Amino acid sequence: MKTETTIQGLSASLSPARSARKIIGFVPTMGNLHEGHLNLVREARKLCDVVVVSIFVNPIQFGPNEDFENYPRTLEQDSRLLADVGCDIVFAPTVEQMYGNKPRFTNISVSDITNDLCGLQRPGHFDGVAVVVTKLFNIVQPNFAFFGQKDYQQLAVIRQFVRDLNIPLEVIGVPITRAEDGLALSSRNGYLTEEQRKIAPTIFQSLKAAEQELHNGVSLVEVLENIKHTLTQVGFIVDYVEARTPELQKIEEFNQNVILFIAAKLGTTRLIDNLQVKQTV
Ligand code: AMP
Repeated sequence: MKTETTIQGLSASLSPARSARKIIGFVPTMGNLHEGHLNLVREARKLCDVVVVSIFVNPIQFGPNEDFENYPRTLEQDSRLLADVGCDIVFAPTVEQMYGNKPRFTNISVSDITNDLCGLQRPGHFDGVAVVVTKLFNIVQPNFAFFGQKDYQQLAVIRQFVRDLNIPLEVIGVPITRAEDGLALSSRNGYLTEEQRKIAPTIFQSLKAAEQELHNGVSLVEVLENIKHTLTQVGFIVDYVEARTPELQKIEEFNQNVILFIAAKLGTTRLIDNLQVKQTV
């Protein structure tokens, strides 16, 4: 496995694969890798000849009071994990390598679906994601790019601008990887105290309970209220509990497949999760 820290170095490393028309798969990450990330790499490995993983903590997707400075950076450990799952090239650029030292005047802003859910709590977040992912797509020029359904709204935003701007690659969504107790794996889980880590699986438990209630005929409004109540009772500060269609449109009744979305804080740690509940009739 090679590690490249510059755009030029990465281009040189990928050049033989491009000339041989090999299928290039790309997994963008912010590092501090866990099984969720590694499953994206495994999916890429199945479909592609060459797998590139980027590790870059992107400053422009963090708000002023968010955790950019403290975000865990564990490149050595990440590299070992990536080598074990068959990654070919790690791209770990500096902020200067990605953004240079001249001002940036171009933004990529996806409307509609970003004015909702995490977009309301994190203004500018998805613009920052769209800019960095577009830059990475242009640098790596992959055939396939892999993203987790844990960040469902992010995946939808990326699918949208790839389609809108005719970016020539296919986006693959990969199901959520969970701990044995149901907690969706996340680099931010490392911020939780032992006590909070015990409470955190309540998010998934409340989603599964909601699924059962919906299938038992409880109204969507009531189901969402029940989740909020459960989370608040165990000590979460709820950012939102919402239901949307798979295309992220508002939905009032469980009359088609629905995705339940949660964002909630334990102390200062913000956790997100989602669950698709399928209409059975
Ligand atoms: P991050 O490093 O948090 O930016 O995540 C990089 C990629 O890994 C994104 O596409 C995430 O959606 C994905 N990812 C993170 N956690 C999980 C998980 N538990 N299951 C599936 N994908 C995940």
